[in-house]
Amino acid sequence: MEHSPTVALAASAMATRFEIVLYGDDPVRLRAAGEEALAEIERLDRQLSRFNPASDVSWINARAAYEPVKVEPRLFWLLRRAAEINKATEGAFDITVSPFIRIWDITGAGRVPSLGELMQTCAIVGMNHVRLDESAFTVSLDAPGVEIDLGAIGKGYAVDCAVEILRGAGIVSALIHGGTSTVYALGNPPDNDGWNIAIGRDEGTTQRLVFTLRDSSLSVSDPYGRFFEHDEQRYGHIIDPRTGEPVQCATKAVVVGPSATETDALSTALLLLGESWLPELGVRFPGFSGTILPLSGGR
Ligand code: AMP
Ligand code: MG
Repeated sequence: MEHSPTVALAASAMATRFEIVLYGDDPVRLRAAGEEALAEIERLDRQLSRFNPASDVSWINARAAYEPVKVEPRLFWLLRRAAEINKATEGAFDITVSPFIRIWDITGAGRVPSLGELMQTCAIVGMNHVRLDESAFTVSLDAPGVEIDLGAIGKGYAVDCAVEILRGAGIVSALIHGGTSTVYALGNPPDNDGWNIAIGRDEGTTQRLVFTLRDSSLSVSDPYGRFFEHDEQRYGHIIDPRTGEPVQCATKAVVVGPSATETDALSTALLLLGESWLPELGVRFPGFSGTILPLSGGR
């Protein structure tokens, strides 16, 4: 029998669209829980966006080079987790890369910086510039220009927070995604043991994988999710912190595991570290696994 979702809701946040579908017997309760979850995502967008001058992250970026900035405990936890993931990914996942994004102007018209600019920028990128004081819940940056950008982990964290709200409201069957790049499957839908998520349906893609998820998350990182072109070369939005250059590869990276915060960060890291890092991913992050997929048209 075909089941349509009892309730489907959507909201714009974090420069993308979040959607939730919920199944259950009581549409009023499902809608209330879904709306509360989306409101939490909108709150997190206001807290975490580096493009919102009133966000906590903007406050850190503006002040923390001059004095320790106190942050609320959950944001402190997220920053500490980002620092741990940075270590466990050999520095590939790095929330301080935004000065590179700026010199390449990837979110604008795009330009290729000079070697000198790249080298100057290297001096203000790296988690060694960020100090997290656990006893005071404060963040310090060791030089002006050092910045925090949660673009590769924030959507996953928002999905996890939303799932916590849904669980707290007694929801046992729901699917939530942020911009289709991170999805969390809560329980299972009617008539199936899990939620089937298909990846690789872009035009020209030969490979199409279906993941069946239940109480787990999946994230995809695409090197050209955002890009500009120069001299027939594409420059995308994922930066290799070791070189300051946009990653050039013909693959997407997929990570599946129990938490969306981690799958989001790890799919970005896996794209940079490549296939040879897959065994290490499973060892360092028990319960998580990765897949590398070819991009359509060889890209
Ligand atoms: P995602 O789509 O989750 O892979 O995240 C990509 C976004 O994360 C980019 O648009 C940048 O804002 C940011 N970013 C780029 N490179 C990195 C990196 N190496 N580590 C962490 N964040 C990054
Ligand atoms: Mg990510």
